[in-house]
Amino acid sequence: MGAFMKMQIVRHSEQTLKTALISKNPGLVSQYEKLDPGEQRLMNEAFHPASNLFRPITVHSQSDWITSHPEAPQDFEQFFNDACRKIPSPEKQTIYMQSIGSLGNTRVVSEEYIKWLKGYCEAFFYGLTVKLLEPVSVSATRCSFRVNDHTQNLQIHAGHILKFLKKKKPEDAFCVVGVTMIDLYPRDSWNFVFGQASLTDGVGIFSFARYGQDFYSSHYEGKVKKPRRTSSSDYSIFDNYYVPEITSILLLRSCKTLTHELGHIFGLRHCQWLACLMQGSNHLEEADRRPLNLCPICLRKLQSAVGFNIVERYQALVRWMDDTSTDTRVTPKHSREKSVSLQKPVEAFKECKEWIIKCFAVLQK
Ligand SMILES: [Zn+2]
Ligand SMILES: [Zn+2]
Repeated sequence: MGAFMKMQIVRHSEQTLKTALISKNPGLVSQYEKLDPGEQRLMNEAFHPASNLFRPITVHSQSDWITSHPEAPQDFEQFFNDACRKIPSPEKQTIYMQSIGSLGNTRVVSEEYIKWLKGYCEAFFYGLTVKLLEPVSVSATRCSFRVNDHTQNLQIHAGHILKFLKKKKPEDAFCVVGVTMIDLYPRDSWNFVFGQASLTDGVGIFSFARYGQDFYSSHYEGKVKKPRRTSSSDYSIFDNYYVPEITSILLLRSCKTLTHELGHIFGLRHCQWLACLMQGSNHLEEADRRPLNLCPICLRKLQSAVGFNIVERYQALVRWMDDTSTDTRVTPKHSREKSVSLQKPVEAFKECKEWIIKCFAVLQK
């Protein structure tokens, strides 16, 4: 109750934002001053009140993350000095992605989908390598599973998946992220979780099940109609289990979640400075409101961890958004599988692409 309130704006002073970005530490100030002038011009937009590139965080209800999870903010200096944060090294600079169960209603769709996500991560974490591990079935992970009492949908145990990923983690991995279209639960007493990660082990698992259009509807085809007594070793229940239709909005939400969660693995905490990908979110509506891009403070954090050139990174993101061609290497393994022509549904990324083009104008003045 009392969840409704007038929309509030979290407004910080110019000085607060400037310090959060540049810091007052002389070493970090001079590090900032050595950045490309265009990059500085873009990041300085963080504390220009009239900026049309970055806007303040808005709070729409008391169930929003910022009011319900008070957390200490993290500025650039705190990030930089965090001794626990994992930093990619030349020996460990690969992000591995592992799909668990089918991501699409056909094998071809499933394989394309994970490649789209891979391509997006490559552009977002520009300069790092992103590789796909061979897709695995749910049974291969030996995880526990259940039928959720509220939704009647199948769920797999997030912690067991993390253990599986940790065992499979290659030598040169910075991290391994599992992605699945099956809903997750963290422990028996919990309803569900969107994802779970272990920052110390550099592994994470994220489900996009609830990002489909119809997960909560009574027509959802994934519902297990007759919740049969399944033994926890009978994984046949996952055979041909329903997965949401791949739409542009599902792809957008998946890319957003994946890069937000990977951001945590790089040591970025929830952003409380400006509207930003790294803002916490409590519910889907709030996650949808969060932009696809990083605010300058989080961008500087990621840049310091990864070492990219900002223009090149944005160019890579635009290339990914423009490229709707299908990977021709996807050919059906069996003759009965139709060779479908599949286009990457990028319509939902249009707003972000236009935003990046505005950034180019500032970066390349
Ligand atoms: Zn988060
Ligand atoms: Zn931010």
